[in-house]
Amino acid sequence: MITVESLLDTNWYERYIKISKLNIRSSIYDVTNRCNLRCKGCFFFSSGEDKAAPEEMDITQWETFIDQEKQRGVNLAILIGGEPTLCLDRVEAFYKRLSTFCATNGFIKLPRDRFPDLMVGISLWGDEDDEKRLRGKDCFSISSKQYAGDPCAYYLYTITPNQIGKTERIIQKIQDAGLKVHMQLLSNDEGVDGFNWTSETLKAIRSEMDDMLDNYPKTVISCKYYHEIITTGEMLGRRFSWMECPSVTDTFDTRSPKPKRLINFKRWASDLKTTHRCCTSETRDCSTCKDGAAHMSWVMVNKRAHIRTAQDLKNWIEVYEMFAKLYQFMPW
Ligand code: SF4
Ligand code: SF4
Repeated sequence: MITVESLLDTNWYERYIKISKLNIRSSIYDVTNRCNLRCKGCFFFSSGEDKAAPEEMDITQWETFIDQEKQRGVNLAILIGGEPTLCLDRVEAFYKRLSTFCATNGFIKLPRDRFPDLMVGISLWGDEDDEKRLRGKDCFSISSKQYAGDPCAYYLYTITPNQIGKTERIIQKIQDAGLKVHMQLLSNDEGVDGFNWTSETLKAIRSEMDDMLDNYPKTVISCKYYHEIITTGEMLGRRFSWMECPSVTDTFDTRSPKPKRLINFKRWASDLKTTHRCCTSETRDCSTCKDGAAHMSWVMVNKRAHIRTAQDLKNWIEVYEMFAKLYQFMPW
C-alpha cells in the first residue's frame, strides 16, 4: 500500500507533519457593501453582491455573530467587501476574536498600533496603465507608500493577459518596497476588451510565473504546482468546475455526488444573515473561474488523491504551505 511515509524522505515528512496539524477552517465575510474605488471586473459589484443585503450597522451584532462563527468551528476569518478598512470597528471585532486576514486596496492604512500583526492582502491589478484603465487610479503608488516594509502585508497581484512580459518590473517594484507578492489571474467578469485568457496566453503566463518564482524566491509566495493548476484548470487529470469546486457555501451545496470541499465553509453578506454561493462572484460561469483561493483549496482538500507518487505529494505539501504562509499559519 502506498503511504505518506513511503513516499517522503525525512525532511519532506517533517514538512508534511507540520501542516497536518493545522486543520484550517476558513469562512469569508463581506465587511461592508461600500468601496472607495469601482474597478472594472470587480466580482463583488459586477455580480450585484453589494445589493444582496443591507449592512448590519450595530457593532454588538457583529461581535455576537463572530462569537457564533467561532463556535461553529471557524479558525480563519477572511475579510473582503467592499473595502473592509472603511469599517475598522468591524475589522477589530474579528481581529480580537479570530485569526484574521484582511483584503484591501491599500488606500487606507490599517493603523498598526491597533492591528499590530493583522495580515493584509493589498490588491494590485497590473502596471500603472492597467490599473488606471481598470481601476481608475495607479493604486500601487498609493498602497506601496502606506505599507512599505510592513512584515504583515503582501500584494495580491491579479495578473491580466496584458501583463505578459511585464510582471518582472512589478515584482521588482514590490521587492523594492520591502513587500511580498502572491499572484492570481483575472477572471474578467465584466468582459473588458482584451482581458480574456486564451490557451496560448495561459501557457505564456505560467512560464512567466515560474520564472518569477525562480528569480524572486524571497518575494514571491507561490509554487509551480499552483501555477500549473491555475493556468490549466486541471489537477491529476480532473477539470476544475462547479462539480469540483471546494469553496461553495455549505447551504448552497446541492451537488451529488458531493466533491471534497472546505468543511463548514460559508461566505457571509454584511447583514450577517445572507450567504453567497461561493468565495467569489455569485454570477460567474464556473467554467471561466480563475479564482486563486478556490484553486488552492481544490488541491488542499484532495490530499488523498495526491498520495500517489512522491512528486504528487510534494506538490500538495507546497500548495498547503503556500496557503498557510498567506494566512499566517506558518512564517514566510
Ligand atoms: S477595490 Fe476591491 S472591492 Fe473595491 S471595487 Fe476594486 S476590486 Fe472591488
Ligand atoms: S465561480 Fe469559481 S469559486 Fe464560485 S462556485 Fe464557480 S468555480 Fe467555485
